[in-house]
Amino acid sequence: MTIGVLGAGQLGRMMALAGYPLGQQFLFLDREPGTPGHQVGSSLFGEFTDPKLLDEIAARCEVVTFDWENVPSESLDRLAARTRIAPPAPALATAQDRLLEKTLFNRLGIPTNKYMAVDSLADLRRATSLIGLPGVLKTRRLGYDGKGQQVLHKAADIEVAWQALGAQSLLYEQFVPFDYEVSAIGVRGRDGSTAMYPLNRNLHRDGILRLTRAPWKSAPLEAAARRHMNRVLRHFDYCGVLAIEFFVRRGRLIANEMAPRVHNSGHWTIEGAVTSQFENHVRAVAGLPLGDTRATGHSAMINLIGVMPSTGALLGESGLHLHDYGKSPRPGRKLGHLTIVESTAAAANRRAARLLRKIDSRQA
Ligand code: AMP
Repeated sequence: MTIGVLGAGQLGRMMALAGYPLGQQFLFLDREPGTPGHQVGSSLFGEFTDPKLLDEIAARCEVVTFDWENVPSESLDRLAARTRIAPPAPALATAQDRLLEKTLFNRLGIPTNKYMAVDSLADLRRATSLIGLPGVLKTRRLGYDGKGQQVLHKAADIEVAWQALGAQSLLYEQFVPFDYEVSAIGVRGRDGSTAMYPLNRNLHRDGILRLTRAPWKSAPLEAAARRHMNRVLRHFDYCGVLAIEFFVRRGRLIANEMAPRVHNSGHWTIEGAVTSQFENHVRAVAGLPLGDTRATGHSAMINLIGVMPSTGALLGESGLHLHDYGKSPRPGRKLGHLTIVESTAAAANRRAARLLRKIDSRQA
């Protein structure tokens, strides 16, 4: 089967690398050559809204998926009229808008923090007085990795945040003094069968994921995450991998956002689970049976951000798995990641801490 992929970033590349052994072919669409996906698969180049390109990908692919969340909804509508889209377009449309996303979580009984839509400075003043300070002002659309966000601590920050972000539709939400963050990665097959990976514990730096450790063993949190995951999967009659990110506060999950795609916090599954999230996504969208989501050990995944450390120094470490996405360095850009798999959580934690120190000291 040929699987079309909108967006040819590292997620698309890892999807293709997982799909080739299953006999699948991939056709990417992205703006220009040189993307990680293009390194490993055939590609079409141009705008995501170009009707000719969309029609070509629809004609050549039995199913179209995406590695990028901000595909315009008109493009999805055009594709949906010509081929199968997985995950379903409404899941993507919901994830593209923080207000729709939080509203859906609440409708499905999934707890979130308090939030309000903000379209004027007066709205923002009202929201801060009803929800309180501190809070976070976020763009409703096109935000990622902490971009398009301002934390408000005091009344004087209201005007400043409005000046910075006010040109777009916004959402003001309660600041959550979380104990830590976790994410759940689930998958639903074409036949409606579901599976979920063990929970990931995530550490962000400057709004960007830096470290994931998995499995994060907590039976009550995992049971709650599974309930929430299944509700969202069923709601959309979903097909493919879905990630939900949560804050954990006093032993309870508070949903922050969802990603209707393979997710950075699931990269450890390539070496650390029986079946990776990428293979399971391919299996799901291609209508194949889902693979086993169990962890084979205790994994830690470190994102390589902004500067690529010397590959030679890293590969001298036994059992270290390096993924270099082949992207040009830029501050804040995800250039690659490392995964280690150990037999105990303590060993994985120790090694991850040592590797982080090593990478940070080289980048200082
Ligand atoms: P997001 O783009 O919503 O995933 O935010 C990126 C990161 O910023 C999150 O993973 C948190 O570490 C932090 N963050 C976002 N929203 C909040 C909030 N309401 N309270 C506390 N931290 C937040």
